[in-house]
Amino acid sequence: MMRAIEITGKHLFSVITTDLPVPADNEVVIKVSACGVCGTDIHIYNAQAPASLPLIPGHEFGGEVVSCGKKVKRLTFGNRVAVDPNISCGVCEYCRAGRIHLCENLRAIGVTMPGGFAQYVAVPELQAYLLPDSMHAYDAAFVEPVSCCVHGMDIIDIKPGEKVVIAGSGAIGLYMLQLAKLAGASKIGIIESLPDRQAIALQYGADFVISPKDPVLREKIMDSMRGGPGVLIECAGSADALKSLLNIAPKGGRILLFGLASKSDAAEIKLQEFFHKELKLYSSLLNPFTFQRAIDLISTGKISTKHFIIQNVPIDFSEMDKVYTGKQLTGTLKNILVPHQITKQGVTL
Ligand SMILES: [Zn+2]
Ligand SMILES: [Zn+2]
Repeated sequence: MMRAIEITGKHLFSVITTDLPVPADNEVVIKVSACGVCGTDIHIYNAQAPASLPLIPGHEFGGEVVSCGKKVKRLTFGNRVAVDPNISCGVCEYCRAGRIHLCENLRAIGVTMPGGFAQYVAVPELQAYLLPDSMHAYDAAFVEPVSCCVHGMDIIDIKPGEKVVIAGSGAIGLYMLQLAKLAGASKIGIIESLPDRQAIALQYGADFVISPKDPVLREKIMDSMRGGPGVLIECAGSADALKSLLNIAPKGGRILLFGLASKSDAAEIKLQEFFHKELKLYSSLLNPFTFQRAIDLISTGKISTKHFIIQNVPIDFSEMDKVYTGKQLTGTLKNILVPHQITKQGVTL
């Protein structure tokens, strides 16, 4: 038997004890080392994002292979892997055109099928990526969000020397900050209201941080960046943040909508201003073919979580309650569910 977290409806979850998953022929069973709690998980809990209920959530995870289906060839017992949760059908028009993230029949581990908020989970072998020896199995929890950010960077295509503004310095904003630096941005500003997150952004080398509530936000940014930021990345998942980026964007600015907003969020665009500035608005969905690059970036230390304030959460009703309701310890930047034993030194894998 194993423990898992199950969501049954809006604001309804429980810790269940259920049978261990049995792998289908093409599946492996993973002993979950760590599973990140993502904004999407909170949206699912709040019934603000689509999901198939009842659901064992969790889509940012990895661990150790403990059993293999009959047709599994590449993986074997003991392999350490990160799991790409997004499963495309391979036969729809989008898949056939190589745009697997837009698949008409997309399934996702932890969204439409059982995920990593569990001690064990069965996943198709194809979804599991081997981790290099230099990478701890715990760090598998960071691969999926980084892979999504890599796709966002591919779309926004920062040129060396460009100036960048990022709204939000939660985990996603901080990955974007690091990726923008790697892409050669000459100056990066962060819009963030929480002082502890502002401080972390500075530790990662942001050139300046500014509160979204600053009454002269646009002026200050224009003063700090000659010509204004050519690239603006929304990582807060809020309509207000997008509105403020639309206002800050200089002529010719490119805006990337990245954070997942609530279903009901909407932002008005001043059409004439948008036209006269010749703005470009992009969005970025999931992680097509970027999973391996994310592993390579993390395992080589190019993308790091060393300044993150991480809260390890055991599978326990009261602890998860705090996570879901946002009552976790203040300052926590990322909650990581650790479904097996935790020792004082950290994680036992
Ligand atoms: Zn996520
Ligand atoms: Zn498809």
